[in-house]
Amino acid sequence: MQYTFASRMGKTPRSFIREILKVTERPEVISFAGGLPNPALFPVERLAESARAVITGEGSAALQYATTEGYLPLREWIAERYKIRLGMDVSPDEILITNGSQQCLDLIGKVFIDPGSRVAIERPGYLGAIQAFSLYEPEFMNVPLTSEGPDPTVLNSVLSEGNPRIFYGVPNSQNPSGITWSLENRCRVAKIIQRSETILVEDDAYGELRFCGDQMPAMRSFLPDKTVMTGSFSKIIAPGMRMGWVCAPYEIMEQIVTAKQGTDLHSNILSQRIISRFLADYSIDEHIRAITDAYAHQRDCMLAAINEHFPKEVTCTSPDGGMFLWATLPDGFSSTELFNRALAENVAILPGVPFYTDGGGESTMRLNFSNASDERIWEGIARLGSVLHQYMQT
Ligand code: PMP
Repeated sequence: MQYTFASRMGKTPRSFIREILKVTERPEVISFAGGLPNPALFPVERLAESARAVITGEGSAALQYATTEGYLPLREWIAERYKIRLGMDVSPDEILITNGSQQCLDLIGKVFIDPGSRVAIERPGYLGAIQAFSLYEPEFMNVPLTSEGPDPTVLNSVLSEGNPRIFYGVPNSQNPSGITWSLENRCRVAKIIQRSETILVEDDAYGELRFCGDQMPAMRSFLPDKTVMTGSFSKIIAPGMRMGWVCAPYEIMEQIVTAKQGTDLHSNILSQRIISRFLADYSIDEHIRAITDAYAHQRDCMLAAINEHFPKEVTCTSPDGGMFLWATLPDGFSSTELFNRALAENVAILPGVPFYTDGGGESTMRLNFSNASDERIWEGIARLGSVLHQYMQT
């Protein structure tokens, strides 16, 4: 049978990560390839209590259809959190609850991207955004990431010459690079966007997962009318709940609500109420501190192991938050080849190529430190180090 699919499907790569996770899930493999939060830190007991309270106390409302925008007390909590953490004045009406923050990217694609529309994105950029936007057939424009954030000179020429509809970036502990945009860079980027017609999509999936350095102002606080900001409970509570949100100016929110109605009517109201109850009954700050302490330790452990085992020519970022390190091999060495060689030794890394929309990135790789014990980090990095030494000698 010859099936005829929409042309957009041919333009969208399958998620390389989800594909290789199938291989790397074998128990004998030490995997740094995925992007999984540490399940030991999921608040299982407390969520069980919250779920029980919701089902027994408010069961019929929690199991009924609900509004597209989402559960009001949860949206109020998010608005209040923005106020406390980032000093931002946000109305709950500017917030809509989504099925994970990944859904925000799809809705943003629906609302802003026609076939051939230009979309500017960090290089390297978050693979899940590349995939979500690709379904709407944009033309990507790349803005290289420096250690301080997006290169302002390139951003300026991309926005003034290409006039993209959106510029998508992850200013805090970016996936994949771990880079956080510096304050100076944020100010420069804000000025450039202010002068343009482009909307900034500020993906803040890791904003709460900072373990050192100063809290940076959100880009939205410089550009409230020109920013669509996204957030997630995946990294601070649990990804399986699939709860995220989008924060956008009213005119944009109206469009997002229409797009969401056509997609899934509303996000899972049971999950929304359970999370809302959890946030009311327990201290999220205490919980986040436990996560950031653990991840800081895991990052230090991985950096120490890399320092001991990797050839000195391999460079690596030292992120101030999030879940990833980003390593670069010397020119001419391929992380895809390294992936194959490492997998033969039962270690998995994520080659960097899928994070580039223009090819390139062949010598880069992402290493996830949040989902392995100290022992497995040391053992996995030691094995990877010996694979690297062998590869780089041949
Ligand atoms: N944005 C970024 C930068 C991410 O790394 C992720 C998760 N890998 C997401 C969005 C989506 O996360 P979720 O849908 O679980 O909120």
